[in-house]
Amino acid sequence: AKANGKACHEIFAPTMYLSALKELHLESDLRQAIQRQELVVYYQPIVFLKTQQIIGAEALVRWQPPGKSLIPPNDFIPLAEETGLIINLDRWVLQCACQQLYEWQQDFQGLAPHFISVNLSPKQFFDPRLKDIIIEIVGKTGLDKKYLKLEITETVFLKNSHTVLNLLYQLQQLNIQICLDDFGTGYSSLSYLHRFPLNSLKIDRGFINDLGQTNQNDAIVRIVGTLAQELQLELIAEGIEESYQIEALTTLGYQWGQGYYFSPPIDAQAFSLLLEKNTFH
Ligand code: C2E
Ligand code: CA
Ligand code: CA
Ligand code: CA
Repeated sequence: AKANGKACHEIFAPTMYLSALKELHLESDLRQAIQRQELVVYYQPIVFLKTQQIIGAEALVRWQPPGKSLIPPNDFIPLAEETGLIINLDRWVLQCACQQLYEWQQDFQGLAPHFISVNLSPKQFFDPRLKDIIIEIVGKTGLDKKYLKLEITETVFLKNSHTVLNLLYQLQQLNIQICLDDFGTGYSSLSYLHRFPLNSLKIDRGFINDLGQTNQNDAIVRIVGTLAQELQLELIAEGIEESYQIEALTTLGYQWGQGYYFSPPIDAQAFSLLLEKNTFH
């Protein structure tokens, strides 16, 4: 099976994307990078903490200019957001990620990740056709939509919240899951948790980083754990780098985690090797 990032590039030439790009009239390195197919999707495992088995994967984009080192997303996502290129970038990542999980399901059956998480810029929510666009993209890959998780951040709630609410409901009706990323940072208002349809929370890695250092920090981590339980939201801890953090988190009732301790984001081929072992012991 096609198991590396390039495999995705070959299938990625939907006319929808090309015509949208032409409309932009933007001259930037990033635009060229997208056209020259210099973007690569990496995957980071999300694991069940008790067994350290892979239960999911998050798709994270990188920029690979030929002959140069990999450029991390924080160096170009802001530009992509500013120029609007993020719209097509996210859609391309979505297609790659869904196609990749579909391939893993063929190759690894039950040992494939149970879901694929894809980050969605708040900008996507300005487009009322979001639902149809996602249906079209995921449909092309053959993946059942129930395996897709979309990661959003609280900033989407600052936009026209009626439209956002509508779009989120439409997505959930398709059995797509919605995960609130970076929970606990920024404007965090608890009211979002019941006003918007969510399936999962991802507590920001800052809290995981500070575990065991202050009572205040640990209290927040504990309370978020209780909150997720009471609201019946799945809970993911990101940024796990040390084994003591796993112990602390499982004691606090956390089940799922992600972080360098298990694996950094890696390309699809390296991820396939992990799936062959499917454990970090
Ligand atoms: P994020 O969505 O919060 O993704 C998690 C980031 O934490 C990733 O950085 C990941 O590599 C990093 N990380 C994971 N485990 C650890 C750990 O144990 N310690 C530390 N210090 N960091 C860890 P990355 O891949 O550099 O991505 C940065 C951000 O760029 C993402 O943050 C996300 O906001 C954005 N991004 C990445 N790919 C996409 C994309 O396809 N679309 C959009 N809209 N945004 C993306
Ligand atoms: Ca994320
Ligand atoms: Ca995050
Ligand atoms: Ca983030």
